[in-house]
Amino acid sequence: MNYVAHDCRNSRLDERSKNYCNHRWIDVDMTGATTLIPTWKYCRECCEKLGIDFEKQKPSDYRTEEENTKILNHSKKMIEKRKQKINSAYL
Ligand SMILES: [Zn+2]
Repeated sequence: MNYVAHDCRNSRLDERSKNYCNHRWIDVDMTGATTLIPTWKYCRECCEKLGIDFEKQKPSDYRTEEENTKILNHSKKMIEKRKQKINSAYL
């Protein structure tokens, strides 16, 4: 089993945020992380604060609902743009 250093997901927050957390710990590597330190997990302390089960965190939960919507909207926009390009090419 591979192990990896892990930074708390709240380390991605602005340092001025009251939820900011700079905890780092060694954990089982679930994403084949190589150089970048993964931040998809909350540390035990933040989990407690957020009411999340530390053991149940999964890499697939990495993106928030908001981020997912953003990405989805972005790809929709890209498809629209491409369609428009194709249409204008035939005018
Ligand atoms: Zn934390």
